[in-house]
Amino acid sequence: MQRKHTKSIDANAALSIVKELDRALAMHQHWMKDFYRLIICEEPVPPSCMNQDAHLRCDFGRWYDSLDAETLLQVPNVRLLGEPHKAMHDSARKLLDSLPLGNEARKTSYLIFVDNALDFRQAIHHCQSELLQRVCTVDHLTGAWNRHTMESRLREEAERISRGSPPCVICMIDIDHFKVVNDQYGHPAGDKALSTVARFLMENLRIYDITFRYGGEEFLVCLPDTQLAEAEQLLNRLRVELSDYPIQITESKVIKVSASFGIASLNAGESVSDVVERADHALLCAKSQGRNRVCVWDI
Ligand code: GH3
Ligand code: MG
Ligand code: MG
Repeated sequence: MQRKHTKSIDANAALSIVKELDRALAMHQHWMKDFYRLIICEEPVPPSCMNQDAHLRCDFGRWYDSLDAETLLQVPNVRLLGEPHKAMHDSARKLLDSLPLGNEARKTSYLIFVDNALDFRQAIHHCQSELLQRVCTVDHLTGAWNRHTMESRLREEAERISRGSPPCVICMIDIDHFKVVNDQYGHPAGDKALSTVARFLMENLRIYDITFRYGGEEFLVCLPDTQLAEAEQLLNRLRVELSDYPIQITESKVIKVSASFGIASLNAGESVSDVVERADHALLCAKSQGRNRVCVWDI
């Protein structure tokens, strides 16, 4: 579930691609209406329909061609739209070519065209659904999974453990004296620090560990198939590295922050809220013992 870690596309960019894809669907529906009229009414075919690069000339084709490499990397399904779009326009041209031929050739070309048009539409829907899912599951400021996603993902983990999978460790992480960062450097700088910490966690945990934004300046990390002692060691290493990690909050200012960690094990038959409560108690212990430390709630 964790992304390693191409920068997540932000919600506004995601929604603007969804809108662009709506436009692409509407535009091609109009195009198809005109195209079928040409065929059925045996109207003269405009030369533009016969262009080899018709797929680059429609509004969608021009937009797709203008996408930068980063967007293509961030939304892999967008990259998959180019081929079916071209295939649809190519097969439209071949269908027009087949009109003077016999019935069988026309029928074959027609079926290929319709299949390609449906494939394109399906590819667009896939892409839109991926983007909307991302908007709904990811915390927009930090790129970590949001609280809503956390609840369903942890319930799944608890069920898996109850059916015999090894226990997992839940870790609550709270940035130390974060209010001071906002007070000294302003809220936007605080936001920058928060998203940098989230990114640091996601990039430095193991590939199968999952980072959620719990709220405010708190994160919850789920470490599947992990014993408490192993988690303590791993998170202590992470804590030390985080406290020494330079965070560029403005063009001229670099700061460092530390965090306190509370960990507890999610065992078979336990509810998610019980383990989160224990991890939270452990976090409070870490705070009361002076911060910048990992505390374990071992029962
Ligand atoms: P402690 O070591 O006890 O955790 O101290 P703290 O200052 O981190 O804790 P406190 O709960 O007093 O303050 C948390 C601060 O985090 C206050 C709040 O404004 C800030 N914060 C919460 N969410 C955000 C956010 O999304 N952006 C920014 N910039 N600040 C946030
Ligand atoms: Mg807090
Ligand atoms: Mg704090």
